[in-house]
Amino acid sequence: LDWEYAPAPESAAIGRIAERYRMFVGGKFVDGRGDDLKTVNPATEEPLATVSTADAADVDAAVGVARKAYDKVWSSMPGAERGKYLFRIARGIAERARELAVVETLDNGKPIKESRDVDVPTASSHFFYHAGWADKLRHAGLGPDPRPLGVVGQVIPWNFPLLMAAWKIAPALAAGNTVVIKPAETTPLSILVLAEIIADADLPPGVVNILPGAGEVGRTLVGHPGIDKVAFTGSTEVGRQIQSTLAGTGRRLTLELGGKAANIVFDDAPIDQAVEGIVNGIFFNQGHVCCAGSRLLVQESVAEEVIGKLQQRISTLRIGDPMDKNTDVGAINSAEQLGRIRELTDAGDDEGAQRWTSPCPVPDRGFFFPPTVFSGVSQSMRIAREEIFGPVLSVLTFRTPDEAIAKANNTPYGLSAGVWTEKGSRILGMASALRAGVVWANTFNRFDPTAAFGGYKESGFGREGGISGLAAYLQEED
Ligand code: NAD
Repeated sequence: LDWEYAPAPESAAIGRIAERYRMFVGGKFVDGRGDDLKTVNPATEEPLATVSTADAADVDAAVGVARKAYDKVWSSMPGAERGKYLFRIARGIAERARELAVVETLDNGKPIKESRDVDVPTASSHFFYHAGWADKLRHAGLGPDPRPLGVVGQVIPWNFPLLMAAWKIAPALAAGNTVVIKPAETTPLSILVLAEIIADADLPPGVVNILPGAGEVGRTLVGHPGIDKVAFTGSTEVGRQIQSTLAGTGRRLTLELGGKAANIVFDDAPIDQAVEGIVNGIFFNQGHVCCAGSRLLVQESVAEEVIGKLQQRISTLRIGDPMDKNTDVGAINSAEQLGRIRELTDAGDDEGAQRWTSPCPVPDRGFFFPPTVFSGVSQSMRIAREEIFGPVLSVLTFRTPDEAIAKANNTPYGLSAGVWTEKGSRILGMASALRAGVVWANTFNRFDPTAAFGGYKESGFGREGGISGLAAYLQEED
């Protein structure tokens, strides 16, 4: 991603974490009535900040404020005017980019080079992209005058806190909806810095409301009768609960859930390039990526070569302080997630897979897990079936393209897949045979606001990004 916007001089205050953060409701920072939560730096296990949280009455109040903003201001504002606010927010993110990157890395544990080069610029470009749509909705292919849905309830996870906020808020606002959004309990800080940017952009009060809190706040929000549409990103388990809460209500729902992507390497692939793609596919963001290439399917004839080169390359990855610009693999976001990764990798040992661990030393303090590769994996093993959401790769082999397709599709998920081959016809054939919302060819983990992202099967439904992402926030009219 090109970095076009120079940081503003005030970003000298980089990385200053306030002692206390408050909710953002009706354009103001206010204390919630829920119990305060404390965020922790996962790389040091030290407390970072205290955050005020919402209770059910706060959810109710925020939905009321969002409704008023929708009825009185936002839904009737000309698109070009709405677009100006989105442009301002996009610029505000770019101007405070360094500060946002530091806050994100301290709160989440991801390497600073990733928050700096991926999370923050992509969040900004999401607002830029959707700003351009605000006055062009009639060209979205949804009829001459597509209307917004109303008040949208959004719940996001901890793996890309700022970016997920941008994915949710930007299209909703461009389409003319107002928003009540809940960040994940372990990563509420960057979205509250975004709230400052939103306030500085003079967005009309109540158009965006941010309610930190635990899962219960999300549960109350998605079940609130004043919400017209729910957009959720998170685990398949919670997605299922939300689906049953909304069943029969007629309210719109989009779900972006888990994944267990196959990254498929054929024997004619450019092997060195594929090795880079495999590393990026599973170790980017410590593997806390819904579309992570967590299953490597490699053609038998090149399996030994690929695994050997992969181990060599992984041995050069630096694990440690996420604030160090040279760090490749940062901290696992929470003790709970670290426990889940340990449980599943232990199951891999028990079920007879061969574990290989990166020789790079791992810090004693903080939540860290070394890059790990399991070979000799069979399809029935838990490490081949369940989402580990960590820096753990399971290697399976195949002989023919049909076998690759069958193994790749043998999962309840269907978010993404990767194909590595020199043959264009094979890429097209695989892309249509793979039951996955996104198929990358000779690359992996590429994100762009113009491209629709979303799942098949238990990875959810609905798309984010591109025209389909916008359509998810509009009422279709003939
Ligand atoms: P999670 O489902 O536990 O939590 C996600 C969010 O939902 C959090 O804000 C949480 O507080 C909230 N929540 C918890 N219980 C709730 C309930 N009953 N009702 C409403 N909200 C509730 O998921 P997580 O552990 O935070 O995130 C990891 C999961 O998210 C992984 O499975 C990953 O694949 C998925 N994910 C998917 C995408 C995607 O685009 N498909 C992107 C990122 C993460």
